Parts: sequence; C-alpha cells; structure tokens
Amino acid sequence: MSRSRPVVALDGPAGAGKSSVAQQVARALGFVLVDTGALYRGLALAASERGVSWDDGLALGRLAAELKLGFHATESGPRLTLDGVDREDAIRTLSMGDGASRVSRHPEVREALLGIQRALGSDGGVVLEGRDIGTVVFPDAEVKIFLTASAAERAKRRVMDLRARGQEANLEEVLSGIVERDTRDSTRPVAPLTAAADAVHVDTTGLSFEEVVAKVVGLVRERMS
Ligand code: C5P
Repeated sequence: MSRSRPVVALDGPAGAGKSSVAQQVARALGFVLVDTGALYRGLALAASERGVSWDDGLALGRLAAELKLGFHATESGPRLTLDGVDREDAIRTLSMGDGASRVSRHPEVREALLGIQRALGSDGGVVLEGRDIGTVVFPDAEVKIFLTASAAERAKRRVMDLRARGQEANLEEVLSGIVERDTRDSTRPVAPLTAAADAVHVDTTGLSFEEVVAKVVGLVRERMS
C-alpha cells in the first residue's frame, strides 16, 4: 500500500486525552480526524434503540453490517451519523461509553467495523483515534502513538468534560468506571487494548494540552520529512 500522506494511529485508554489531542493534531496538520470510539458508541446506541442486547455478538454483528455509520464534517469537528442522521450528542453519555465497551468485546462487531475504519483511513492524511488502530486496523501506520495518563488524572478530565457538556458527573463513580473499562478493554480476547510494539508512548500526566499536541505533531512531522 502506498500513501502520499501518513496514517497516524493514536491509541490509549479511556480519558487519556486522545479525543482533544487527536482533534488538535489533525487541525494543525490539515489531516482528517476519525474517532473510532464513536463508531462503537453509535452501534451501542442503535442496539439499545432497536432492542438488541449489548451481549448478543451475533445480532450486534448483523446490526453493524446493516447500519450506515459515518461522519459529517462541521466547524466544531466531525460528528457521528447513523443512517444519515446526526447522533453525536446522543452517543456522548456515560451509558453509551459503557455500551461501546460492551459491544466492542464481540469479534463479530470488531470484524464488521474494521472495513469502515480502514476505508476512512486508507488514503492517508488522517489521524485515527482508538484502541487498536496501531495493532489491528492499521498495523502499517506510518506513525503510532500510545497516549496514557494515570487513572486518577483521566477520571478528573472525564468529569470536567462531562460537566462541560452539561451532564452530572461524580468523580468516584467515573474513576471506578474507568478502572472497570480499562480492565474489560485490556483483557478481552479480541483486539485487547495494548500498545503496538513500535508505538511511541506519551504519558500525558503532568503535561499541558499544548505540550502533548506539540509532541505528537513533532513526531508526525519527523516521519514526513
Ligand atoms: O474512546 P471512547 O470512549 O469513545 O470508546 C468507547 C469504547 O469503545 C472503549 O471503551 C472501547 O471499549 C471501545 N473501542 C474499541 N476500539 C476502538 C475504539 C473504541 O474497542 N478502536
């Protein structure tokens, strides 16, 4: 596969700051941004609305293959569409985050969403943000970054993010949710959350947002030169 511009794989656990970092990095480089977690959230939302259990891998795989999951560009960044309808606000809840983590365990789901993710990134000039981009979706990505932060720091950021969206959030609850989600994401048999062997680890604890963005942009520019 030859690409004139790189694929940037940005992986890491929940709340490491991936979304805001990916968005700013994509903007700085003029790259397209693909938030792959939004696809799992969209599937969890569609399932809950259609009465499909988050535990039924077979039915979820069928639903994922049938649904039209995509993004439309807006000034504030890409927003998820489900069968052509903007559902971005509905997927950004604690409940859909939990649902996404539960539906993403099933091999049928991961298989069904793999093609969409590869199609969205295959031309390069793209930042894909997720859990298994550097290991499974684009093992040949030109730039792989694994973003981490302590669980306490990640919980603090999640709470601020939820409150900024006008949602109630309790720090202890969010922290235990993050620890639970980390365990589920990293122990699932299919595509567990692990860093690719050739990923650059960036620990964002104690770093400012601008420092993290500058570091990642610098790494991409280095690979492009
Ligand atoms: O990043 P976000 O919080 O939106 O992801 C929600 C859930 O979707 C994660 O906890 C994870 O279980 C799942 N996910 C995944 N693989 C990805 C992106 C997200 O399994 N590439």
